[in-house]
Amino acid sequence: MITPDEKERIAQELNKKFGAKDVKCPMCGNIHFIIADGYFNTFMQGDLRQTNLGGPSIPSIPVICNNCGFISMHALGILGLLPKQENTEKGGEYGK
Ligand SMILES: [Zn+2]
Repeated sequence: MITPDEKERIAQELNKKFGAKDVKCPMCGNIHFIIADGYFNTFMQGDLRQTNLGGPSIPSIPVICNNCGFISMHALGILGLLPKQENTEKGGEYGK
């Protein structure tokens, strides 16, 4: 599970991206969010007729609206939070 220090770092990086802009839930307009206790690591799928486990993925952190439960996922690579060997160009392929 994510440590309090990791959550703090994630919150700092997200706040840098959001700046002074008021962030509201796109579904209900609430302004309070929770950083999940763990990461998502969604594997990329190249064929909709199959499900492949493993291969390229997008490690991300779920941020949850504490009113309606809407989940936004933020790519750790874009936030600069992946270990160096996994952090490739922005928008590029993540992990292996
Ligand atoms: Zn909401």
